[in-house]
Amino acid sequence: MSSSRYRAWAHIPSVAQSAQVPMWRDNLAALLADADNKNTLLPFGNGRSYGDSCLNSKGGLIDSKQLDRMLAFDREQGIVQVEAGISFEALLQCTVPHGWFLPVSPGTSQVSVGGAIANDVHGKNHHCDGSFGHFVQSITLLSSTGAVRECSLDTNKDLFCATIGGLGLTGFIASATIRLLRIDSTNMNVRTDVFHGLEEFAQLSKERRDDYRYTVAWLDCASNKRAFARGIFLSANHGTDGEKVAAQSGHKVSIPLSFPRFALNRYTIRAFNELYFRAQARHDGKTLSRHYQSYFYPLDAVGQWNRIYGRGGFHQYQFVVPLSEMAAMESIIKRIVESGLGSFLAVLKEFGSQVSPGMLSFPREGYCLALDFANRGEKTQRLINELDQMVLGAGGAAYPAKDRLMSAESFAAYFPRLSEFKAHVDPKFSSDFWRRVHG
Ligand SMILES: Cc1cc2nc3c(=O)[nH]c(=O)nc-3n(C[C@H](O)[C@H](O)[C@H](O)COP(=O)(O)OP(=O)(O)OC[C@H]3O[C@@H](n4cnc5c(N)ncnc54)[C@H](O)[C@@H]3O)c2cc1C
Repeated sequence: MSSSRYRAWAHIPSVAQSAQVPMWRDNLAALLADADNKNTLLPFGNGRSYGDSCLNSKGGLIDSKQLDRMLAFDREQGIVQVEAGISFEALLQCTVPHGWFLPVSPGTSQVSVGGAIANDVHGKNHHCDGSFGHFVQSITLLSSTGAVRECSLDTNKDLFCATIGGLGLTGFIASATIRLLRIDSTNMNVRTDVFHGLEEFAQLSKERRDDYRYTVAWLDCASNKRAFARGIFLSANHGTDGEKVAAQSGHKVSIPLSFPRFALNRYTIRAFNELYFRAQARHDGKTLSRHYQSYFYPLDAVGQWNRIYGRGGFHQYQFVVPLSEMAAMESIIKRIVESGLGSFLAVLKEFGSQVSPGMLSFPREGYCLALDFANRGEKTQRLINELDQMVLGAGGAAYPAKDRLMSAESFAAYFPRLSEFKAHVDPKFSSDFWRRVHG
């Protein structure tokens, strides 16, 4: 048993957590048997969830960092079997030289396979391929009763579907078998287009969705008037030049200290956005070649970038609204601009119509926006609660992996299969998020 400060990525709340760090999968059964309804457990991946879904301050964590082994790799078919603690970065280092890539990548390679399954993560290719859960062939799940279950769409299907996007509450994923994507190059061909306004964004998204596997846009959420909702649309495909060089681990630079609070304000953010927009606009209409690392995981180059928000931490809010609700998206963005609280890292993306097997999966067809808010206490909380009401009103949903304010009512409305899911929750597992949204 170890006790240390386990934190979520947004640095709030910071709580001391007791954690077990098993070395081997064989150690898991005894650890799980120790849990009881009062002293609950929660699996922990790499803490890249922003909010409190990866914390369990009233119980303990089982940290999977030592369970990071590759168990099998079929190089012909591109199928890997791995322990759940392996990171995407480590997995790519093994598979990329053989021409296999992750089928779905979030914006960082510092996530574990277990964490990616439990949040059913999505990437820039959602419109084409759906979420990570579509590529999970099977999982081995351990429960606190000592049961070890193989789960897939053929065996223990309901438990499998509850575990994809199941927020770590259905048991401990000891290992998983994942289907990879064949690539001919580690370089990406990335086209840049400038857009002004959401209509132009929607038009680009429609035009590019059939020809490009990956599409995503950076949106300026700080500027108003003529610059309102301007952005940079990136469309990309894997290259074909035969080069297969995996990225090396390690950051290029690190943020050594938390920034002082005054460093980020509406003026510095507006200035940053202006500079970023101008720099990217130089490539308008051009297609350039980039290594996958800088395309998929740009923030990984900066160690501990979450410190730029200062000691108070920050909130990230990510939501999706149906395609027919672009007007609601516009009102939400206007509200954010007006508040002056939005940050520079705003990402807009169209999700496709693929329905994930996961009962609590977040991605669904629509327009999805993610952005950070430096934590200014009640002011920020009030704004996020307001945005939540607007998302609810538009029939959308917010993403639990990014959240620490969602109410029980919102959670139930966002996830209509909640009552079906509850039947699969291991009674000795819980999280701070789950206690908040479920009581
Ligand atoms: C810079 C950045 C960019 C991001 N971009 C995206 C994005 O584009 N798309 C997206 O979907 N997400 C994105 N995220 C969020 C991130 O992908 C998810 O929060 C992911 O689940 C984190 O994985 P983790 O290994 O750190 O897990 P943690 O955050 O430690 O845990 C996440 C959940 O997984 C559960 N869990 C972990 N291991 C296991 C296990 N072995 N068995 C059962 N449950 C387990 C935990 O209990 C918890 O509920 C981003 C995060 C960052 C920091």
